[in-house]
Amino acid sequence: MTETTFPTGTIIGYPRIGRRRELKRAVESFWAGRIDAAELEATAAELRAATRARLADLGLARTDSAIPESFSFYDQVLDAAVAVGAIPARFERLRGADGGLDLAGYFTIARGEGDDAPLEMTKWFDSNYHYLVPEISPETSFSLHAERIVAEFVEAREAGYLTRPVVVGPVTFLLLAKAADDAPDGFRPIDRLDDLVPVYAALLAELAAAGAEWVQLDEPALVSESIDESRDRVIASIGAAYDVLGAAEARPSIFVAAPYGALDDALPALAAAPVEAIGLDLVRGSLPDALDPATEESLAAKTLVAGVVDGHNIWRGDLAAAFAHVEALQSRSASVAVATSTSLLHVPHDVDDESRLDARLVGWLAFADQKVAQVATLARGLVEGRDAIAGELDAASVALADRAAAPGVRVPAVRERLAGLQRGDFSRADYDERLIAQESLDLPELPTTTIGSFPQTGEIRRARASLASGAISAAEYTGLMREEIARVIRLQEELGLDVLVHGEPERNDMVQYFAELLDGFAVTEHGWVQSYGSRCTRPSILWGDVSRPEPMTVAWAEYAQSLTRRQVKGMLTGPVTILAWSFVRDDLPLGDTARQVALALRDEIGDLEAAGIRIIQVDEPALRELLPLKLADQPAYLDWSVGSFRLATAGAASATQVHTHLCYSEFGVIIDAIKNLDADVTSIEAARSRMEVVDDLATSGFDHGIGPGVYDIHSPRVPSVDEVTTLLERAVAEIPANRLWVNPDCGLKTRGYDETVASLEHIIEATRSVRASRLEHVGAAS
Ligand code: GLN
Ligand code: ZN
Repeated sequence: MTETTFPTGTIIGYPRIGRRRELKRAVESFWAGRIDAAELEATAAELRAATRARLADLGLARTDSAIPESFSFYDQVLDAAVAVGAIPARFERLRGADGGLDLAGYFTIARGEGDDAPLEMTKWFDSNYHYLVPEISPETSFSLHAERIVAEFVEAREAGYLTRPVVVGPVTFLLLAKAADDAPDGFRPIDRLDDLVPVYAALLAELAAAGAEWVQLDEPALVSESIDESRDRVIASIGAAYDVLGAAEARPSIFVAAPYGALDDALPALAAAPVEAIGLDLVRGSLPDALDPATEESLAAKTLVAGVVDGHNIWRGDLAAAFAHVEALQSRSASVAVATSTSLLHVPHDVDDESRLDARLVGWLAFADQKVAQVATLARGLVEGRDAIAGELDAASVALADRAAAPGVRVPAVRERLAGLQRGDFSRADYDERLIAQESLDLPELPTTTIGSFPQTGEIRRARASLASGAISAAEYTGLMREEIARVIRLQEELGLDVLVHGEPERNDMVQYFAELLDGFAVTEHGWVQSYGSRCTRPSILWGDVSRPEPMTVAWAEYAQSLTRRQVKGMLTGPVTILAWSFVRDDLPLGDTARQVALALRDEIGDLEAAGIRIIQVDEPALRELLPLKLADQPAYLDWSVGSFRLATAGAASATQVHTHLCYSEFGVIIDAIKNLDADVTSIEAARSRMEVVDDLATSGFDHGIGPGVYDIHSPRVPSVDEVTTLLERAVAEIPANRLWVNPDCGLKTRGYDETVASLEHIIEATRSVRASRLEHVGAAS
């Protein structure tokens, strides 16, 4: 290995979907058969070229490995799986003659084909990005297929750049993987570390041969305590992997990045490993002032890559403090570099694209491109001294002061209301008392309902676009939405559902809809971030104290209720989810912000009640996903998150039935939190896991209403009556029928009408047959 110095300023990764979502469009066109693989490759190559040029313009050096090669067609974990040949047995047939995959094969693993399910998808640490979960078994035969990784590096080199390939590291790769279904009990993917590492060593050799001077191996799993593996094993894996990789003869210098938190007890092992640079997330974590002498000595011999520019949020931040932080690190190592704390994957491209945002707000923001410029500034300061960048540091401080003093950031009335909260504001009457009060709802046993949204048709989307472009008036738009609501109500009556919904046609997104109506939020035009694959979301920016200028959902709910004698369920998004899917402010504790949102929702619930709505659902699909990675941080989170839900709902009368909805089925970790929400009815995902969750529920002592989903809405498949009946029978066997609800796994907005209607018909038929067989049963017994 030749000695090369690490670049003074770099980023951990950059958005890859394109400034105008070009990659999304190209990939989806490829899936639809409108363009071929060559055309998709060409678009991707253009995007990579544009990214390199942009990063160089923004101040990252072209030829010293400062520019990361972090492109992906779909997901970086899938890329790693493909590169090491970890393809599940059911997709073996996709391999070409050389054992590798073509683009179509790659996407098939991501999206499934026929009966061959895709890789499972799950959240990437505490971000809103989702990765594909590799499946590993004792039989997985690892082999290197690094063509793409090498080709992208060579492509850059030929264009005059020396870039830094980025690959998910071997420890994280296995820790994020799951045991394949056919693996023996007790098998853990990390058991295969010794077999995997040589493949990574071969990858490093290929990169070195191609001329790479540095490689970045991402090891975020080292910071997480929410990984299903003992901490000792995680820490032991670091040495097991990197002692081997470090000893490889031909290799680039190794930069191990550990974003999303502090390394804590993993730091000594990583410091002891023969790698040349370590990336520390100094936004989420910090480097302890005093470490043991051996670790201190090891660190001093490495490049410390100080992640001081927040890659996870959109604020311009305190640049002077960031610089001071970096400078202080110089006492720990002679070689210190500046970086973002995480990949910039989590933020939109460029604030300058936002022509409609308030100019004052724009001055407080930094999207990906602004953050790259911040890194470049700090790096220049390291080389040339603080004075050289004093202007930029001061400008950031001025923006920070401007933000602190701006109207709307601190609203006295909101603060006073928050300060005046009493314990009692967080609790409703006893559940038993509520049950009695809610008897007048007159619901049958096993009531049927849906989760809220009905299919978002092309017509609905066109109406919204026409409103935005001014082609139709607000009144015309309202008329169209009312027609849609009337259709959905009629359909539900015909189907015979018990508790109806208005269908949410007016909501582009369950968070943005509220963000647009609440004070304290701003909405971007081009602020897209990748959620998974080609899917992007456009998070709102929560910048100020939150309040509700006027009712947000009442007119729609009231109209829907006026059309039917059955109960219409009001539909709100909960405070935790509103925060989780927005860019939140960094100048107020999250719990305070959550309580502000909760109070706005509490007022909305009061208005819904006054309008005659007697069942109100407050969705919290994000409750699980905001759970902190560090165990020590979890109790405080659960306290404020559950508290804010309770604050939002506790003003409801006993006779009002409060529902909540959560989108996943792993309850183990947060079952107590779900109990503490104290919702009268909770709907959850269960169809995909064939009702596994009812066992957990039965043993947990959960004793409120529960609706385990019987229809997997993530798939276009229509479940048969028999299938739903079997699921319901499983549920009835574990959960008393008077607490059991019947509903799909989640909202229907992504489904088409044909499959929706057929599935709901089957659900209702299955419910009727289960009700009937229960009656017979009771009849026979008496
Ligand atoms: N009420 C929402 C819907 O039906 C809930 C969506 C969700 O949980 N993600 O669409
Ligand atoms: Zn859901």
